Amino acid sequence: KKKGKDQFAVFEPSMRESFQRHLEMEADLRRAVLRHEFQLRFQPIVRLATREISGLEALVRWQHPERGMIPPLDFIPLAEETGMIVPIGEWVLREACRQAARWNEQRGAGQPLTVSVNLSAVQLDRTDLPQLVGSALSDSGLPARCLVIELTESLLVDHRQETLERLHAIKDLGVRLAIDDFGTGYSSLAYLRRFPVDIIKIDKSFVDDVGDVPAAAALTLGIIQLGQALQLSTVAEGIEDAGQLSELADGNCELGQGYYFAEPLTSEAMQALLFPADPQ
Ligand code: C2E
Ligand code: MG
Ligand code: MG
Ligand code: MG
Repeated sequence: KKKGKDQFAVFEPSMRESFQRHLEMEADLRRAVLRHEFQLRFQPIVRLATREISGLEALVRWQHPERGMIPPLDFIPLAEETGMIVPIGEWVLREACRQAARWNEQRGAGQPLTVSVNLSAVQLDRTDLPQLVGSALSDSGLPARCLVIELTESLLVDHRQETLERLHAIKDLGVRLAIDDFGTGYSSLAYLRRFPVDIIKIDKSFVDDVGDVPAAAALTLGIIQLGQALQLSTVAEGIEDAGQLSELADGNCELGQGYYFAEPLTSEAMQALLFPADPQ
């Protein structure tokens, strides 16, 4: 119908199969929400100058009963399309805050860890998002300054006035905002002016080449300096080797995450990393 009146598309068996799989996956996802089949992984975010852990990024996984562990990029789009990202995202936010509050309590004095949570556009469309964030904080006891909400540039493309107001309402709680995958969108610089951002996360594609492609190095250092000029924190994503790390540290990038330090860890593995002397 989309193609106009006198057009028709041939319905191939392969299309039926993929449609069938889509429906199955959707039913599976509904069941997964009811049966709590989601898990969080936590990836350390490290202060590059000292190598100490400054925070964690919470990353969702789906433990499917037959298909095993499903990565977020394989189900988040469907979850967004069907609206199921709303209950999934609420669980992620509450669980991340709960876990971070627990670890901070266990750490006692000293600089508390921050926890970063990825939000999707569908969640940002909800009028009750600021209340949800507020209740995740008060229920967990996590101080607002310990929570970072990560937004991608694509999410900010369709910026309506209400979206901006909602982001300000979240910031008024004391929560910080990060632009994820920075540099990959259409007008990264425009977003920095328009949105009340605190943190820039430099996309992995820049970090990948920082050690050996002069243009990538120049762009990365430029982004770091831009962050400094605007008094924003900069986080380099996807650091995989010592060469990338030294390049970024020399350029005064404040924070970084990547397999070089640690992969996203189960909460048990994170617990062991944070409290090495304590068996559990
Ligand atoms: P992201 O927020 O940019 O997260 C970083 C991704 O890079 C993660 O993939 C992480 O595992 C991966 N990564 C970190 N360090 C390295 C490295 O050194 N090398 C390589 N090759 N990869 C690295 P993951 O966990 O598969 O997540 C992919 C994306 O899915 C995330 O990208 C985020 O956009 C989305 N996502 C994850 N969890 C959530 C969630 O709870 N809600 C929403 N809405 N999106 C989520
Ligand atoms: Mg992220
Ligand atoms: Mg990213
Ligand atoms: Mg990404």
